[in-house]
Amino acid sequence: MRKMEVDVAVVAGGPAGLAAAITACENDRKTALFEKSNTTGGAANMGMGVLGIDTSIQRSNFNDIDFQTAFRKHMEYTHYRVNGPLVSAYFRKSADTVEWLQDMGVKFAGAYRYSKDSEATWHVVQPENGRIGPRAASGMIKVMTNHAIELGCEICYETPVYDLIVEDGKVCGVLAKDKNGEEIECRAKAVVVATGGFGSSAEMMKAELGLNLGVDQMTFMVPGVVGDGLRMMWKAGAQKYGMNMEVAGGTLSGEYSSTGLVFNQADLLVNRDGIRFMAESDAMNSTFFGNAIADQPGRIAYSIIDGSIAKRYQKSGYPHISIVHDISTHVNIMNDLKAAEEDKCPTIWHADTIEELAEMIGIDPDVLADTVDEYNDFCDQGYDELFAKDRQDLRPLTGKGGFYACECRPGAYGTIGGVKVNAKMQVFDKDCRPIPGLYSAGTDANTIYGDSYNFKLPGNSMGFAVNSGRLAGDGIEDYLESLE
Ligand SMILES: Cc1cc2nc3c(=O)[nH]c(=O)nc-3n(C[C@H](O)[C@H](O)[C@H](O)COP(=O)(O)OP(=O)(O)OC[C@H]3O[C@@H](n4cnc5c(N)ncnc54)[C@H](O)[C@@H]3O)c2cc1C
Repeated sequence: MRKMEVDVAVVAGGPAGLAAAITACENDRKTALFEKSNTTGGAANMGMGVLGIDTSIQRSNFNDIDFQTAFRKHMEYTHYRVNGPLVSAYFRKSADTVEWLQDMGVKFAGAYRYSKDSEATWHVVQPENGRIGPRAASGMIKVMTNHAIELGCEICYETPVYDLIVEDGKVCGVLAKDKNGEEIECRAKAVVVATGGFGSSAEMMKAELGLNLGVDQMTFMVPGVVGDGLRMMWKAGAQKYGMNMEVAGGTLSGEYSSTGLVFNQADLLVNRDGIRFMAESDAMNSTFFGNAIADQPGRIAYSIIDGSIAKRYQKSGYPHISIVHDISTHVNIMNDLKAAEEDKCPTIWHADTIEELAEMIGIDPDVLADTVDEYNDFCDQGYDELFAKDRQDLRPLTGKGGFYACECRPGAYGTIGGVKVNAKMQVFDKDCRPIPGLYSAGTDANTIYGDSYNFKLPGNSMGFAVNSGRLAGDGIEDYLESLE
């Protein structure tokens, strides 16, 4: 058993763990970070950027949003079912955090909206290849990792932590195992746990949320994110709290992911009973889309278009695009659809008539035909009498080129929450008292959404991760000073 002794031990090197480690190092605390995989960054390597409120980047683009507006919007969105002081501490810190990241070398392409109705809070990292899109934030992770090392943080890769050391009710270190199988006992005055939730653990998803991963609930399946930190914290006496899915999307186009966008343009959505269930234009907010599907019988829905709609997109482009989707890879819509058809993609169907399509997907043909007729009437009159969906998204299904359906299931970035924390990121026990020496940050501690991710203030998850990591670092400094 290798023995180590530090001031601060950080469990995991996602954006939350890295931010906590850097903050501890800035405070001249001897810090070690243990990361399960052979690289830092976790889910953030797939993402694009962090939330910032009232930043100089926003102000320079006349896109600023002040603290009051953001805070009130968020608390209204969550019906005050979340920790106000924590949201306040996070939002208040977020502008400084954007500068803190810039000072260490992170470059931002700008502050963006996710959709028209969202605020421009999403500080998207300038990607190395210059092209804004998925994975841009991996550049931020590189800079943060190098900075942590420069400040003296010892990063132990491929060294998962498997338990916390608890003595006299205080957390005072971690137990880990390195890639050669050697056990490590790292004594620490404080520990930060930030292992990213359990979005890749079928067992925990079933046990904690009653969901069947990959069947009625999809996630991005970030490797290694299987609830290790939460299990350790619960074992150490932490209160189980606030677990949920960070719902987003989505259309299931499987290996034909290029066709996903075709079926995600606010055209007809029906449930397995053949009935419409939402204003399809609201499905452009992927949290709303996922939530609405999750509420349908069997947690399933179908997006239905016809060949003429697909052709129109092929010719004139998609009505709904965002900076997340690289549309240049979707130029050959008709070919992609044809390939999906011929290869018999299990989640995409094509038929000459709506009745045949209904048979294929197991919907009563008469009901689906009636739904399509009614929907087409709404399109003709330019007004959706059922849900008043946006008029510009009323495109009739004529059946020209046949009908297509794509299966939709609730998707999610992963889980959120698991422990209750205060605004210093101290982890609470069952009596809501902080467990001395135990801090959590990022997804494991992300209980600021209530039931749904807030796309109106985008960048909110990675923003919470980095800012809560810094808050944990600050909280630990107060704690360590109180011990001295
Ligand atoms: C496709 C995708 C795109 C996204 N885009 C955005 C975006 O643009 N903006 C935004 O705000 N949010 C985005 N998110 C969400 C964001 O990435 C997460 O909120 C954020 O990464 C959470 O940070 P974290 O540090 O808490 O956990 P993670 O980033 O999930 O990192 C967890 C880390 O813990 C490690 N680990 C697990 N168990 C152990 C253990 N036992 N010991 C040691 N290490 C362990 C893992 O290997 C991993 O490195 C996106 C997510 C996905 C999946």
